[in-house]
Amino acid sequence: MKAALLVEPGRVEIGEVPDPEPGPGEVRILVGGVGLCGSDISVFSGRWKAPSYPWIMGHEAFGIIEAVGPDVPSERIGQTVVVEPNAACFACDRCNRGVTSACVRRQSVGMNRPGALAELLVVPSRFAWSIADLPDTDLVCVEPATVVLAALRRLVTPLPNTALVVGLGAQGMMMSLALLDRGVAVYAQDINQDRVSFATDLGAVPAAAGSGRPFELVVDTVGSPSSMAVSLDRIEVGGTLLCLGLDSRPLELTAQALVRGQMIIQGSLTYDHPADFEATVAFVAAGRFAPGRIVSDEYPLESAQPAFERSGSTPGKTWLRIAGLS
Ligand SMILES: [Zn+2]
Ligand SMILES: [Zn+2]
Repeated sequence: MKAALLVEPGRVEIGEVPDPEPGPGEVRILVGGVGLCGSDISVFSGRWKAPSYPWIMGHEAFGIIEAVGPDVPSERIGQTVVVEPNAACFACDRCNRGVTSACVRRQSVGMNRPGALAELLVVPSRFAWSIADLPDTDLVCVEPATVVLAALRRLVTPLPNTALVVGLGAQGMMMSLALLDRGVAVYAQDINQDRVSFATDLGAVPAAAGSGRPFELVVDTVGSPSSMAVSLDRIEVGGTLLCLGLDSRPLELTAQALVRGQMIIQGSLTYDHPADFEATVAFVAAGRFAPGRIVSDEYPLESAQPAFERSGSTPGKTWLRIAGLS
């Protein structure tokens, strides 16, 4: 099969690799398209190490099941599916508590098992979710939508009438959409004004318009010391800071600010199996929520290199079309 291969940090080449074979409990998907997300870009740039080179990246995938492993019903062949790219072991303590997102033996497509930027992808059957025929851009955004919807499901405080979203990458855009869908007035903040304009087109208000006011809910999708400083500064007393950004640098926060602000700081990582994907698939299929609205750029697989290079500076999400499925 053809695949986009990361041959070294910063350089992708299109090459041929052997077709993967579905083992017991697995299905093989003819990949229709793959969205690029921040974690893929971290692997591309070398900030996160690939397990080996050449490496196949990508995890936000949809496609059609075209082969099944020995014990998987053949009725699955032909189904349009979206991929839940983090497979859990279902045996560790965390899995037993239902927190599969923190499984100690988590297998992540494109991170520690081969990624989706290829013509074929093998995943466990239960992690390939059958879904109605929807626009490709909606299908490619089901995974990032699930990250956001799971974060809102986990929220320990009720949703307020207004919220501030800090950082308008794909996660921030998707969070803005999800909050707007629930009737929350969203103020959006980013250092990139093109992203602020994109969020405004989706229905958010530029945060500068509400400058200075505190918010009962602040969502930080970046996690850098500078974005978290902005976020911590904007929380209303008793308010919640919901964190989605993965940044390993330490933050500046005093116990006094935490106590006086009576803050609730909550982190949320991906989603738990099976409830979160099940909910998103039903939600998107019902037509209530079109996550593909955050997409701005499409490339063919052959243009993976420029797609990766430019995706960091475009206002919306970038995706790669792989097979002409529809
Ligand atoms: Zn992602
Ligand atoms: Zn586990």
